[in-house]
Amino acid sequence: MTQYGFHFDGTRCTGCKTCMLACKDYHNLSNDVAFRQIYEYGLGEWTQDGDGWTCTTSVYYISEACNHCESPMCFASCAQGAIIKDEETGLVYIDAENCIDCGACAEACPYSIPKRDAENSVYVKCDGCRDRLAEGKQPICVEACPLRALDFGDIEELRSTYGDVSAIAPLADPSQTIPSLVITEPKNALPFDDTTGAILNQVELV
Ligand code: SF4
Ligand code: SF4
Ligand code: SF4
Repeated sequence: MTQYGFHFDGTRCTGCKTCMLACKDYHNLSNDVAFRQIYEYGLGEWTQDGDGWTCTTSVYYISEACNHCESPMCFASCAQGAIIKDEETGLVYIDAENCIDCGACAEACPYSIPKRDAENSVYVKCDGCRDRLAEGKQPICVEACPLRALDFGDIEELRSTYGDVSAIAPLADPSQTIPSLVITEPKNALPFDDTTGAILNQVELV
């Protein structure tokens, strides 16, 4: 089996959200659902200092979709067997036919990835663009990124190319699920258990 996953290069991402919008367009998602989110994470402040100002702010972006985890808590939580971890690709997807709209997967996922599709009364999430993968294509989010900040492939190959870091705020403790995600750390990146910074674009997240 090949376990597919993502690489995200935080030194390239400008937070433009093209990846998120390309995914929404390709998968025809409603306004209140996104399979990929861009977190703006930062800390610091501007303080007046006599006639001037002192700035201690720093900010970085993290683009994240489902991590197609090695030990997916969404999968373990679904009593209906509606979450599938594909044996050939390791991709994790929701079988809408068997989803009963209970939300157990969304509660269990430490990354809050499954979202409720209110129109169809089911939970939905990134499936790794498995239809495109079957045609030998890359996920649409990866192709769309104008900064080439995303990569997709065999997670072991991605780890050997880019390293094995994923414990970056505001993402969850990776030891819980072993995400198929590697991150090239953005400048000023903070660890997953950071308590000094905050998500600055909470209002944009769905
Ligand atoms: S990121 Fe969440 S939804 Fe995706 S496989 Fe892991 S536990 Fe499941
Ligand atoms: S892999 Fe496909 S479904 Fe997942 S975030 Fe990217 S475009 Fe969306
Ligand atoms: S398209 Fe690329 S640069 Fe823009 S937010 Fe997504 S990952 Fe970052």
